[in-house]
Amino acid sequence: MADVAEEFGRLYGYAPEGVWEAPGRVNLIGEHTDYNDGFVMPFALPHTAVAAFGRRTDTAVRAHSADLPGEPVVVAEPAPGTSAGWADYVASVVWALREAGHEVGGVDVHLASTVPTGAGLSSSAALEVVVALALNDLFGLGLERQELATLCQRAENVYVGAPTGIMDQTASACCTAGHALFLDTRDLTRRQVPFDLAAVGLRLLVVDTQVKHAHSEGEYGKRRAGCEAGAAELGVTALRDVPFTELPAALDRLSSAEIRGLVRHIVTENHRVERVISLLDAGDVRGIGPVLVEGHASLRDDFRVSCPELDLVVDSAVAAGALGARMTGGGFGGSAIVLVEEAAAGQVEKAVLEAFASRGLREPRVFTAVPGAGARRLR
Ligand code: ADP
Ligand code: MG
Repeated sequence: MADVAEEFGRLYGYAPEGVWEAPGRVNLIGEHTDYNDGFVMPFALPHTAVAAFGRRTDTAVRAHSADLPGEPVVVAEPAPGTSAGWADYVASVVWALREAGHEVGGVDVHLASTVPTGAGLSSSAALEVVVALALNDLFGLGLERQELATLCQRAENVYVGAPTGIMDQTASACCTAGHALFLDTRDLTRRQVPFDLAAVGLRLLVVDTQVKHAHSEGEYGKRRAGCEAGAAELGVTALRDVPFTELPAALDRLSSAEIRGLVRHIVTENHRVERVISLLDAGDVRGIGPVLVEGHASLRDDFRVSCPELDLVVDSAVAAGALGARMTGGGFGGSAIVLVEEAAAGQVEKAVLEAFASRGLREPRVFTAVPGAGARRLR
């Protein structure tokens, strides 16, 4: 944090007005449900984007990242269609706030992030949310965190051009330490669900496969379109509206095996989120293990967004004694989560790494995820 403030001074020639921080996230359960008006359950990572800000006298944005080479990027007039590379994640938030009618002037920004990029851990939302929270404070906008998250989603959808749901930004803005965040993406009601693994002798590993299959974005669009087609065939607004108990009848009415798979995943996945909440409320944290494994099978076989590397993490971890595991995030690479007994964590991690090594695959990056705090001002 001190580094970020000092580097800001060196870059821009004046001291920043403040320093803010926003985390990346992992999703415990509820995958691909956030664009189907469904349920998600992410928690914040201890990995964060930390950014120092200073207000300018004009309306321009200057942004610099300690994690990338190069001079500060200047965006004179933030607007969709004026791509400035990574700095779009900063400029787009300024644009979205202004577009919503808020009086936001220009800013200088210097940031550094420990959220791995492109690993399905939402480094992009961390960037957007740290900017939104800082602007909210600096310009006295008085917006609620959910409003900030929604504006960040709009920034990413319209300006960056990534058609993501509302989960990532809400997680970064609204999570609290020691909890997973239950979010109903239809009405945006939230609930903090206690999720303190260390207290019950458990650990959650994040395994970043460090692979990203090239077709992931096109496939994401196809899944979204397929879900919309399924909802249309069933005559509902969104697949969220198909009750779990009516799934067999709904499947009978669908036109193709592909759409049946998509619908079955979304409906059973929403149900899995509800099951996980019930288990956590009942204090049965170990009980969620099999639900995670079931969720992975559904993403692999029905929604078809897994890949050999993610399947290998799950299979090798479970074979080595993990309580449960599943891919997390959009799929086609990125990360998986593994729930293990504290005492078995070393042996499970070793088994996963050996499985990758024996197949000549790049070694995954493994870390323990402790549910951390949402975005906040540091100074
Ligand atoms: P994810 O959100 O899963 O990490 P995305 O593709 O949505 O992956 O976002 C990653 C992009 O966000 C990067 O390509 C980069 O443009 C931007 N980004 C994330 N972290 C940083 C950073 N520390 N510095 C500069 N740009 C970053
Ligand atoms: Mg992202």
